[in-house]
Amino acid sequence: MSEFDDLLAANRQFAESFALSGFDGVAHAGVAVVTCMDSRIDPLGMLGLEPGGAKIFRNPGGRVTQQALEALVLGVHILAVRRVLVVPHTRCAMATATQNELRDLVAASSGQDASWQSFGVVADQEASLREDVAKVLSHPLIPATVQVGGFMYDVDTGLLDELA
Ligand SMILES: [Zn+2]
Repeated sequence: MSEFDDLLAANRQFAESFALSGFDGVAHAGVAVVTCMDSRIDPLGMLGLEPGGAKIFRNPGGRVTQQALEALVLGVHILAVRRVLVVPHTRCAMATATQNELRDLVAASSGQDASWQSFGVVADQEASLREDVAKVLSHPLIPATVQVGGFMYDVDTGLLDELA
């Protein structure tokens, strides 16, 4: 018995109708999405894409970190990405809490000091989104032919708002 038995059972069902065997792994819709880890976000569904359509990079807040840029450079040059969407969202914990509030929550949950753990909180989501889009646009290995947009995802309506 494993704590993962339910998920492994679901995986066996998934594999019975698995259709991506031999798939090449490129982004078939030419799309890459950088978005938050938030479970309210369905990155493929919100764009009308199917599995295989897009490269997805997620982190707390949907920020364009060094590792996100690494993923986008690979996506553009090796995996057929032509359009990049940076997608933070409304009611994101990374934008509604301070770093100290998050440290306090983790400290209370873990019963340990969490003051050393950094959290990439966002003071102004729109300003951060514009900075993040600019980071992608100005990256020397991402050509000007790649379209880059910044969008706020509303977790209550499912709508994207183009902001950058
Ligand atoms: Zn979030």
